[in-house]
Amino acid sequence: MQSGKGLRMISFEAVSKHYPNGTTAVDDLTLELPEGGLTVLVGSSGCGKTTTLRMINRMVDPSAGTVRVAGRDVRDSDAAELRRSIGYVIQQSGLFPHRTVLDNIATVPLLLGWGRRKARSRAAELLERVGLEAESGDRYPHQLSGGQQQRVGVARALAADPPVLLMDEPFGAVDPVVRTQLQDELLRLQRDLRKTVVFVTHDIDEAVRLGDRIAVFRTGGRLVQCAPPARLLTRPADDFVAGFLGAERGLKLLSLTTLGEAEVPHEPVTPVRTDEPVAEIRVGGNGGSYEGTQGNWRVAVTPDGAPVGWLDAGALPAGGTAGDAGLLPLRPLRDEDSLLAALDESVSSPARAVARVDGDGVLSGVTGQAALHERAAVHHTAAATAEPAEPGGEPGAGGGRSGQEVTGTGAVRTAEATS
Ligand code: ADP
Repeated sequence: MQSGKGLRMISFEAVSKHYPNGTTAVDDLTLELPEGGLTVLVGSSGCGKTTTLRMINRMVDPSAGTVRVAGRDVRDSDAAELRRSIGYVIQQSGLFPHRTVLDNIATVPLLLGWGRRKARSRAAELLERVGLEAESGDRYPHQLSGGQQQRVGVARALAADPPVLLMDEPFGAVDPVVRTQLQDELLRLQRDLRKTVVFVTHDIDEAVRLGDRIAVFRTGGRLVQCAPPARLLTRPADDFVAGFLGAERGLKLLSLTTLGEAEVPHEPVTPVRTDEPVAEIRVGGNGGSYEGTQGNWRVAVTPDGAPVGWLDAGALPAGGTAGDAGLLPLRPLRDEDSLLAALDESVSSPARAVARVDGDGVLSGVTGQAALHERAAVHHTAAATAEPAEPGGEPGAGGGRSGQEVTGTGAVRTAEATS
């Protein structure tokens, strides 16, 4: 039995699944999924993702090859026992309609003989953990929204604290706004829990957003490439993967990279307080102005230092305070925001720059568009030339998305990490 972060929690060794009608659902799959990582299986409908997922908990048995969980051949485990030790979340939540939310969540702990009191107390804890009100515990599934039901589905899958969580298009049936919230929630949970998650989707944006590693499948149940998202985006294995990733690969990469990770510099700035009389605001030459394409743009801040807008110091009204001077909108950016968000903001900023804030929302500097472009280009090159980390590399390290790469028909490449 293997344990410890980064080891192979799940492995497929030359696994195929053929159905009697002649369909090959999965074709000679060799893939290793490290412990504590979130691997997304992505590809268009019918390419074998669900079958692959279900071979992990023995809902489907392979026709050939071996699937191991924690080093053990799944065929050596009792199927029912194995399923209880692996969380499973599906699209329509699959909740029992005649059981309350709390009883739904407590299902597996009760099957495992935890006793009712302990199981319900665990269920209540999980309800909170997935962002639901305690009151919802006594409701029935149909009394919740689709998004809330999915949260209950996740809580139920986590109830017995399984090391492995299988998720099959879990957010496929909810609207885009709720879907984004559920994705954020999953990322937050995963930062705390570090489960080995296998997540099936046909949506490449969802895959890029969530995955430490993304396994791209094509029709006929063939794995084409498995790599961290940054590597997939910069070095797709072939035209099929490139086509699947879409035309905006560069922008997707920018959406993955934070200002902090890309070490985007802050340029110092002297802001103007909104309660400052306009008569006291000097135009340019005071070391505090920020030159945009037109005008003499300064960052206006509240007395607490929070940036609220761009002020054109070259076109001030005759009297009043800076706050009265018709500020243009500004969206402050934190180090956790993405390079894509910063470039977007800089395009709409009259100063062609973004205002940066610290964790308290206080202005910490500005960054001009040119510096953003330069960091974006440097980061792109670094991502394209970086060797994949060792298989044992901590998922989530090195910009959040490192790992081992697999291409083609299952050849596992274990290049030395160079950084
Ligand atoms: P995906 O999850 O990528 O949409 P699936 O794993 O569900 O794909 O299915 C892969 C292929 O196997 C599809 O062509 C599907 O029709 C076929 N398939 C799945 N289950 C069965 C089955 N029980 N009998 C015959 N063919 C099946």
